[in-house]
Amino acid sequence: RWPELEPRGGRSRLVVLAGPTAVGKGTVAAYIKEHHPEIHLSVSATTRAPRPGEVDGEHYYFVDDAEFDRLVAEGELLEHATVHNAYRYGTPRGPIEKVLDEGRTALLEIDLQGARQVRAADPSATLVFLLPPSWDELVQRLVGRGTEDAAERTRRLRTAKTELASQGEFDFRVVNDDVARAADEVARLAR
Ligand code: 5GP
Repeated sequence: RWPELEPRGGRSRLVVLAGPTAVGKGTVAAYIKEHHPEIHLSVSATTRAPRPGEVDGEHYYFVDDAEFDRLVAEGELLEHATVHNAYRYGTPRGPIEKVLDEGRTALLEIDLQGARQVRAADPSATLVFLLPPSWDELVQRLVGRGTEDAAERTRRLRTAKTELASQGEFDFRVVNDDVARAADEVARLAR
């Protein structure tokens, strides 16, 4: 139901997983972390506050604006972006370079703006786009998780439309019909 993709990047061990809001990127990434421990899942820096249960250095590095500015100024981020017009997120460069130097695979679960910056920084990066089984399914998932109010949902769905239109920039597309299946497919592409 989605058109075929022509892989355009290389098949490097720097792998980006992106996709629209509520598609389940975080769940797929968490599954990969648990079931494919040979793949290094990047830990981003962010200016947003931790949610209950989130651990500093494990889910994110939680930093304030001044610290984020410093990371940007010193070139310590491989990419960075303001997401959903709210907080800043970025990928620390050092751990990724170390993992790649060791010949291992690094997986970045980031937004579309970040995916584009990674592509610009390393044209051989492998970009994977996670898709919902259908548009209706995406709307259902966003409503179902109940973490955004109606105005915010409308805004995210508008962004999701634009993001879905960008899938042609990616090398591979994986449909998140089932978390384990989709995660295994991403892990296979990341090898
Ligand atoms: P959340 O705040 O729900 O954990 O994440 C919000 C969004 O930020 C998600 O779409 C996620 O992919 C994106 N994100 C997380 N870390 C990064 C990062 O390091 N860089 C970029 N560009 N986006 C990120």
